[in-house]
Amino acid sequence: MSPTTLFILGASGDLTSRLLLPSLAALLSKHPKRRVILRGAGSEKWDEQTWRKAVSDAFADAPDALDLVTIGDYVSADVTDAGAVASLVDGLDRSTVLYFALPPAVTAAAIDAMAGLTLPEGTVLAMEKPFGEDEASAKQLNQKLLALVPEQQIFRVDHFLGRSTLLNLLGVRLANRIWEPVWSAEHIDHVLIRFDESVALEGRARYYDRAGAMIDMIQSHLLQVLALLAMDPPATLDERDLRDAKAAVLRATHVFGDDVAASTRRAQYTAGRVGERDLPAYRDEEGVDAARQTETLAEVVFEVASDRWAGVPFVLRSGKALPRKWSEIVVTFKPVRHLPPGLDGVPVDGGRLTFSLGPDEMSLRLHVTGGDDPFALREENLLADLGEGQQRSYEEVLEELLDGDVALSVRADEAEECWRIIQPVRDAWASDAVPLETYPAGSAGPGWHTD
Ligand code: NDP
Repeated sequence: MSPTTLFILGASGDLTSRLLLPSLAALLSKHPKRRVILRGAGSEKWDEQTWRKAVSDAFADAPDALDLVTIGDYVSADVTDAGAVASLVDGLDRSTVLYFALPPAVTAAAIDAMAGLTLPEGTVLAMEKPFGEDEASAKQLNQKLLALVPEQQIFRVDHFLGRSTLLNLLGVRLANRIWEPVWSAEHIDHVLIRFDESVALEGRARYYDRAGAMIDMIQSHLLQVLALLAMDPPATLDERDLRDAKAAVLRATHVFGDDVAASTRRAQYTAGRVGERDLPAYRDEEGVDAARQTETLAEVVFEVASDRWAGVPFVLRSGKALPRKWSEIVVTFKPVRHLPPGLDGVPVDGGRLTFSLGPDEMSLRLHVTGGDDPFALREENLLADLGEGQQRSYEEVLEELLDGDVALSVRADEAEECWRIIQPVRDAWASDAVPLETYPAGSAGPGWHTD
């Protein structure tokens, strides 16, 4: 296998040391035939030795993989400076993956600095979240990227649903004939997509205090999950069919009832305890500007305005400093239309299909009889283990990048739609039309819209 060059801009950053390099090590140790040339750039004035040490430290869990990577140079440069960028581009190999592991504003400035340059054939640009800061800036960024390389060479990374988790979801949904006939407003009452984090700010105020839970999770990741769940079955899993199907859902998605006050909730954690850790209130965390009123928990109810889904609430919720890490998708079916008299314990719904993400599990909650009283209904869960899922997310992202497989990259139009969808919520929250609630760190947070 011929080597691919992975050139990381922002090589001294948190994403690189904590996720990209360890994931690269794990990927190479599983695929020893791969060869990667690793280059780095950043504003830190690192010498060759410091860069080599940073890489070998990050490969600590898979030291054998160090033999499969050629540690190339580290360029100390301001990547927003046109001259510096021009000489950096000048030295690129063909088919280099240029990974923008930079703060979003620096990424935007670096793309500006590249304007007019000719990148070597096959250069792949990998962009991190958040992509832009609203619909207009995402559009502009897309235009600038497309002036540099074609869409098939742009990765807007969504590490949340790794490829295996996505395939698990699609496999269960599309390879079993029982689901597709009931996968609509006719039979589904509502859908919950939740991502609870037990971690709090973890020193990331510079980024998070501007993003909040809405942009960090709902805009960047959970809307993609909604799109996968609600899309029409694609004819193939190639990038065009899959992304066309998702984009069609996103174009039809809006805040339920277009009523932000009734369909959204925002909250911020106060001091509390998560597990063994005492946490200060978010507003007292270092680097936080309390006047911003950044939400650490966001919940939005969306509707997909299509024949298949009209009227079905899709409740998306994510928060920090919650009791445990918990991510799941819950599809709740409507109550049965008629239950023969004599069966006790009328169920409130018609069953539930749950996907837990990372490790991936699927459970189907059914109403059954057969307990002590043969006429009494009770609930039973059928559980299936689908594998490790989310833990492998950046490993899978890197594998897709090195293979040039863009199917799971967020396409330009999808990225713009995700901003369009949340803009009314941002506007209403900015004008305080929805009060900022509070919840003690370690508590379950405010009630749900479905409560
Ligand atoms: P950091 O602030 O930790 O790292 C940013 C890197 O960019 C540093 O190496 C920094 O170098 C470098 N940099 C900043 N300005 C310049 C410049 N003008 N020229 C050259 N290099 C520069 O950010 P993160 O690593 O946390 O985040 C990077 C991206 O990844 C963001 O878009 C973030 O949203 C995304 N992301 C991060 C995750 C994480 O867990 N960290 C998870 C998922 C996504 P220096 O320190 O010398 O300034």
